[in-house]
Formats: sequence, structure tokens, C-alpha cells
Amino acid sequence: AVRDSREMAAENPAVELAKSHLVQPWPYAGSIGAEARTLVTSGDGVYLIDGDGKKLIDGPAGMWCINVGHRREELARVMYEQAMELSYNTPWYTMNAPSAELSRRIAEYAPGDLNHVFYTTGGSSAVETALRFMQFYNNVRGRPEKKQILSRGGAYHGSTYLSASLNGRPRDRDWMDAADDLVVKLSSPDPFRRPKGMSAEAFCDFLVDEFRDTVKAVGAQNIGCFVGEPIQASGGVIIAPAGYLKRIRDICRENDILYVSDEVVTGFGRLGHVFASEELFDIEPDMITFAKGVTSGYFPLGGVVISERLLKDLNRSNHPDAMFGHGLTYTSHPVGCAVALKNLDLLEGGILDHARAVAPYFQQRLKTLEDLPLVGEVRGAGLMACVECVADRESKDPLQLDKDVGKRIDQHCHELGLLVRPLINMCVMSPPLVITKDQIDHLVAILREGISRTMDDLRKEGVWQG
Ligand code: PLP
Repeated sequence: AVRDSREMAAENPAVELAKSHLVQPWPYAGSIGAEARTLVTSGDGVYLIDGDGKKLIDGPAGMWCINVGHRREELARVMYEQAMELSYNTPWYTMNAPSAELSRRIAEYAPGDLNHVFYTTGGSSAVETALRFMQFYNNVRGRPEKKQILSRGGAYHGSTYLSASLNGRPRDRDWMDAADDLVVKLSSPDPFRRPKGMSAEAFCDFLVDEFRDTVKAVGAQNIGCFVGEPIQASGGVIIAPAGYLKRIRDICRENDILYVSDEVVTGFGRLGHVFASEELFDIEPDMITFAKGVTSGYFPLGGVVISERLLKDLNRSNHPDAMFGHGLTYTSHPVGCAVALKNLDLLEGGILDHARAVAPYFQQRLKTLEDLPLVGEVRGAGLMACVECVADRESKDPLQLDKDVGKRIDQHCHELGLLVRPLINMCVMSPPLVITKDQIDHLVAILREGISRTMDDLRKEGVWQG
């Protein structure tokens, strides 16, 4: 059984220390600053070891990021070697070779003329950079009113103030402020929750019409950019109807609205490609944000790939002295960029091929869970998937079940050897890309048992009779 944190504390002081001194991310007010979470002590391949020495499949690959798997010696070695060679340089007035070389490699993979990269410390700062760049671009071009940002329900773009203002998941904003004067929200492109009786094609038309109507109502002269994930990851792996993203891209182009594709999750192999925007969705964005998988989580690095056209517009503007007043201490970090280069070698050296080969099996095996009455839908693409639980399939009501069903499943799965990413009534699965078919079978078998045990609990408690 999963042991109480008090029992674990007796053996591992980290638990008590965390409760006394650590503020966890996304905490509740009632336990903020006093909370211990599942302690993990080591990792290897697709596995993690918890504080009890229990071996767990890392179902969410950390936070969608451990793409090449835990404990890759090649990445550890390059980190050591780069730190011994040059551990840091100020990006304000010096530069390093790994960041220049990584930019060339990323430009080769990015669509169209997206061939310049600005590096950040993660995904939020990458999105923040794209937004501030849009503001700067329009200021320099003499269009200071063209700043509104279009975003959607179900989106997650980060935890800095402006990037978080774009978030559209339920609950994210209940107690948090946001720059609402700068952001216009559109519907979530979630086909599972489309209006009853509406076909997927009609739903796609509805979303595109809403987008076009919003552009008209707000005025294209007031809208700077649209920011969207190719697949809404933390919203629950929401896959928009076919053709939708391309139609949105076309409206953006017609109206001189920059299209920012947030590939923080979908980039670097999660969908079998370094970038998914063009390869899978046939769109050429103006900017792509990335993070996570770029270093497989071994070093905090993110960035924005920017279209050369935008940079040339600035070069040729009437304000050559205008400064893009934006840069981080760790922009173009040499260790991060060296890790990313080696990580790309690993992806190119067989892991991308493996991810593409194993993805259909992963999706097909998870889909079998739909025969469980608690499961409303299993959906996904590449090596990202979501099991969404509903009280009943007809009403698709998640609320009656809002007894932290995801968390309950996670607890059962933990006992059985699998770490789940619970999201209210959903379980997200995005394992390391190196997962084998046998490991997929094991993951799905545990998840099935975890959901079955949760169904038994809910029935016993009389809160669900499916
Ligand atoms: N964008 C997307 C699509 C994300 O999923 C995330 C994080 O999950 C972010 C941005 C924020 O990235 P970070 O947590 O590295 O700041």
C-alpha cells in the first residue's frame, strides 16, 4: 500500500523537511507550505523509484518532458563536460558556441523561414517572450494598438503573469488575477464536449466562424497574435477537428495576426517529430515556442523560433534604435544548449523512429479501456493520451464524479506500479518515448486495474452506480 507520509518521514527526512520549508507548485491554501508529495529518489529508462523503493512506470514522463528516458549517461556526461569547459557566460555582451549550433539545428527542423531562436528557461518564459516580441514588433512598426491576444478554453500556456492570462482550463483562474484587458478567449476546440447532435465537421465550422466573428468584432487592427497548442495538452489532450488549425492559420494570415504555435509539449518527439505544426497539422506559424523535451527535462531550457520575415521587418523599420528590452540571465545557457544538442542526437539516432513506430500500439492498447463503464473516452496522438472519466456517457457529466477521480485512480495505480498524471476527472499518459510494447502492455494493465478498483470504491460509497 502507499504509505502515509508520516511513516515515510521516519526513514526519509525529506518528507518532514518539505512540510516545514518547501512550497510546492499548485498548492491549496489549506496546506500551502506544509505539504509533502510522493518522494522519488531515482529514475532509469521509463521507471522511477519512490521513497519506499517501489518501482513505478513514469506515466507522464515527468511533466511531458523526459522524452529520451531517465538516466541517459550521454546527457549526464555532456552536462559535466560542458560545465567543465564553460559553465556560464553572460548573454548580454558575450556568446557561446553551443547556442549558435543548436539554433542552426533547430532552424533545420522548423518550418518555412522560422530560422532564428531566442532561448529562455522554460515554457512560460518562452510564451512570455513570444508575447513581448509581438508587442515590440507592433510598437516598432507604428501599430501600438495591435496588441490583443487570442487564446482558447482548455489552453495551458504557463505560470508567469501574461502567459497564465492565456490559460483557459477550468479552475486555473478561480483565485488568480490575470491581464484580462489584453486577452480575448475563444471556445475550447474539444470535440468530446461539442454541442449535442453537432457533427465534428459542423463543430469545426462553428469554431472557425467564432474565430472570424471575434476578429471582426475586436478589429484586426487591434489583434497582435493568436497563441495555440497544436494539441491542448494539459487541458486533457484535446485534439481539434481535422483541418481546424489550418483554417485558423489562414484567417490569421489574411488579417496580419501573428500565429504562435505553442509546441512546449508537442515538440521534440512527443508526436514523433521535432516540430508537429507543419509535419502533422500543415501550418507554418510565425513563431513556435518550445521547452521540456528540448533537453528531455535534464536542464531547464526553452525558446522561441521566430520567422525571419518578422526580424527583417524590424531591421528595415523606421526605428533601428528601438531596443527589444527582453533577456534573461540564463538566455542561451551553454550547458542547457549542449544538453539539447546531445538530446537531438539521441532523438535523431533512433528515438524519433521508435516513437513513430510504437505510437499506434500505445493508442490502440489504451483505447481498449473504453469498455470500462467509468471511461467516457480515450483519445490521443503520438505518445500523448488522455483517459477521461464521466459519470455517465450520455450526459458526459464529469461533475458528479468530481471526487478527485483522477487522484483516486492515481493512488491505486501507484500501489500497482504506475505513476499517473491526474487532472480532475482525467488521467493523462505521456510516457518516455523509449517505452517498449511490453512496457505499454504493463502500463495499460495497471491502469485498467486502477480504474476498476476506483469503480468498486465509488460503488461502495454509493456515489456512482455505473
Ligand atoms: N506551454 C505549454 C503547452 C505547456 O504545457 C506548459 C507547461 O506544461 C507551458 C507552456 C509552461 O512551461 P513551463 O512549465 O516550462 O514554464
